[in-house]
Amino acid sequence: MDKRKFLKVSAIAATGLVINPFYSCNTKDKKDSVISKPDLLEYTKRTEDFYLPPLSFPVEALEPNIDKMTMEIHHGKHHAGYVRKLNAAIKDTSFSDMPILDILSNISDTDTGVRNNGGGHFNHTLFWDIIAPNSGGEPTGKLEESMDTTFGSFKDFKAAFSTAAKTRFGSGWAWLSVDDGGKLFVSSTPNQDNPLMKNLVEQNGTPILGIDVWEHAYYLNYQNKRGEYIDNFFNIINWKKVSDNFMKSIG
Ligand code: MN
Repeated sequence: MDKRKFLKVSAIAATGLVINPFYSCNTKDKKDSVISKPDLLEYTKRTEDFYLPPLSFPVEALEPNIDKMTMEIHHGKHHAGYVRKLNAAIKDTSFSDMPILDILSNISDTDTGVRNNGGGHFNHTLFWDIIAPNSGGEPTGKLEESMDTTFGSFKDFKAAFSTAAKTRFGSGWAWLSVDDGGKLFVSSTPNQDNPLMKNLVEQNGTPILGIDVWEHAYYLNYQNKRGEYIDNFFNIINWKKVSDNFMKSIG
């Protein structure tokens, strides 16, 4: 990391601002506000390399649901690796100056490196953003209403989401997303795919909540007990953030 970038990242970390991947939908509209909103624009503008967004909480803050060492390795090694490899994969390609959402919606099944590492970068950025200490509970407001309409109740949503996560064979993710009509749906994708990859997934939409079920996300603490990790994940979901994502997705 060069000095300029280090200073910018440090400044973001110091203010405690979280980088929300959904703002990259509006990259062009936001270009004029680079100076006033550095937290958003650092992520969306593409004159520089992608970089690892800082966590908004200490690595030990999610214990006992997610342990400190898992967080250190998951964020500091795995996610950092996706960022590094994404930057290498897009270099000198048509993706090189695109915001992440544009990259994901344009990739095809031949763009293997960009698919795996662009997905890895987006998915983890969303993941860190929708978990937090002292969270859990249930959503309220419009998201709650929409869940009731689509799934029947929060409990029914939880069952569908948990089943998607528990039955994903091998590595992947389970998602709560919003389709083009503003309707919620639960899905699961392999590897680092996600519902934004419209050329590659069965159900295309905007993910507002996701759970990483790669073994690197839980194995140190839970070993083979993926189900227990998924159950405990509900203790750290930041429903305020998920609701914000929902409102942006339908707005
Ligand atoms: Mn992961």
